[in-house]
Amino acid sequence: MEDFVYSGNPGRVVFGSGTVVRLPEEADRLKAKRILVLSTPEQAGQATNIAGHLGSRVVGTYSKAQMHTPVEVTADAMRWIEDCSADAVLSVGGGSTTGLGKAIAFRTDLPQIVVPTTYAGSEATPILGETEGGRKVTKSDPRILPEVVIYDVDLTLTLPVALSVTSGINAVAHAVEALYAREANPIISLMAEQGISAVTRSLPLIHADPGNRSARSDALYGAWLCGVCLGSVGMALHHKLCHTLGGMFNLPHASLHTAVLPHAVAYNAPAAPAAMKRLSRAMAVDDPATGLFDLAKRLGATMSLKGLGMLDGNVESAVEQALASAYWNPRELEKPALIALLDRAFHGEAPLGARSELPWR
Ligand code: NAD
Repeated sequence: MEDFVYSGNPGRVVFGSGTVVRLPEEADRLKAKRILVLSTPEQAGQATNIAGHLGSRVVGTYSKAQMHTPVEVTADAMRWIEDCSADAVLSVGGGSTTGLGKAIAFRTDLPQIVVPTTYAGSEATPILGETEGGRKVTKSDPRILPEVVIYDVDLTLTLPVALSVTSGINAVAHAVEALYAREANPIISLMAEQGISAVTRSLPLIHADPGNRSARSDALYGAWLCGVCLGSVGMALHHKLCHTLGGMFNLPHASLHTAVLPHAVAYNAPAAPAAMKRLSRAMAVDDPATGLFDLAKRLGATMSLKGLGMLDGNVESAVEQALASAYWNPRELEKPALIALLDRAFHGEAPLGARSELPWR
């Protein structure tokens, strides 16, 4: 066993089916008496229904959460927090709603209860990405980490299949980069391998039958593990590329992760043989980059950045922006190779195959 450092994030998780009925006891544990409920406009009805379990503890529902946590939306929600004298927030939804709850907690240190309905994994991290003037800035702070997460698989049954697939692969991306992170450690690697296995095993079943509760449950469990990975160790090339492209072209978050991940894996594979061995084992494939690409494509995901809305002629400038600030990656960041990587992703081509040389096998 090599030397390692492991530091765990605090947080309480309630996992199962029908678990939202436990909201009142979780609110009591936090001594929360005046709760502001948060959601996107699309999930306002669902959030109101769920909040019904909290009765008179609910002081309002703010349903204007948006992707990438724009600071103007947070400022608007902060007025609600003050007007209602809220003493806690309940976020019902995916990463966008969780992001708003985190932005409020960062400013107020109010406790958060999160009821996740996608596989984004944000609820398990002390990380917040906020957008101001078209630029997304990421910060990490203990106040941002939600106090309680209630996973209720029943709420994921309505997640459309296409978003289930891309959101699941978004979760997998966190665990993949945790396997080759500079701070990688055996505990997080265990979670990463389990998370990848649970998500990639369940996505084809969900695709075939979105109402498959057992597959939904495995995917949600896997997504939690992957979120813990994201919140525990540093990320690398894949997340940097997605962050850059998302900011430059406002591309849909989960789809973007899905289109880029196979290429980032192919790029890093030669420099991370131990991680590739674990990833291959978790996915039960020989070549993880090709395996990820094939899985996503087979399940109907859009694999070209062009198809997601990236404009022609921007590959080089995106790479330059992604290289503008230094960050750690297992393989040295080589501009021509990154341009080739992004060019393949732009056109939706398969990742550069490593079939002929699989050093981790
Ligand atoms: P999302 O929260 O934007 O949800 C996408 C759409 O699906 C929304 O309209 C939402 O209302 C709807 N939806 C969600 N769950 C549903 C359900 N069960 N049934 C029906 N509709 C449902 O998407 P996302 O991919 O979960 O989150 C993306 C955001 O999360 C981005 O802003 C990203 O940066 C952030 N994120 C942050 C972290 C972190 O740790 N800070 C991690 C992952 C993602």
